[in-house]
Amino acid sequence: MGSVTVRETELGRKRRARRMARLLEAIHPDAHCELDHGSPLELAVATILSAQCTDQRVNEVTPILFRKYPTAAAYAGADRAELETLIKPTGFFRNKTDSLIKLGQALVDRYGGEVPGKMADLDSLPGIGRKTANVILGNAFGVPGLTVDTHFARLVGRWEWTAEVDPVKIEHAVGALIERREWTMLSHRIIFHGRRVCHARKPACGACALARDCPAYGTGPTEPDAAAKLVKGPRADEIVAMARAT
Ligand code: SF4
Repeated sequence: MGSVTVRETELGRKRRARRMARLLEAIHPDAHCELDHGSPLELAVATILSAQCTDQRVNEVTPILFRKYPTAAAYAGADRAELETLIKPTGFFRNKTDSLIKLGQALVDRYGGEVPGKMADLDSLPGIGRKTANVILGNAFGVPGLTVDTHFARLVGRWEWTAEVDPVKIEHAVGALIERREWTMLSHRIIFHGRRVCHARKPACGACALARDCPAYGTGPTEPDAAAKLVKGPRADEIVAMARAT
């Protein structure tokens, strides 16, 4: 366990990263975008609402929201007070309302009301940073993208895939290790692993099938039973069993 040497070569790191990526696929076969959506616009809106809020809470709000505002033009012409009330449960609702209205206006003014499918265009839209753009590209347009959120940054740091801390630099560093076509699903799997196993405070190291390749093994409890209790989600039993089998 934790057998990674400090003098790992670039090639060694790439091989280890790809091995871990394959294991992540086996550990989290259910990984997916957890924001409910049926179109690029809905995903853009849901992603804006997900800032500082759980995906679950966003999914509680969006069914009514999407019915009431089915187009970019509807957001552009929204009644601010009404929109604020609808999205209030997601927090920071004034800023988010502002972003949604401005996003609607920009889409109507510059893109005929459609969400564009290119990074440069998405990145220029109000409320949509590079992370959000990658979520939209990967999940609504099928363009591979790495979504560097807080889980992703923490985990690839622990795995010593990169020493970068800036999200864009992390994105490029991980992009150089993993094949492009894997990027979108890898992002979901890493985020699932961060939510279910490799927690910020107490990672479940003793119940983690990545342990052999992880330089941070031992950051959390290594005793199997204690670690198993830390694993979250509907597939916790399978995740623990997989770690025991490795
Ligand atoms: S849970 Fe522990 S062993 Fe697993 S990836 Fe996180 S730090 Fe590494």
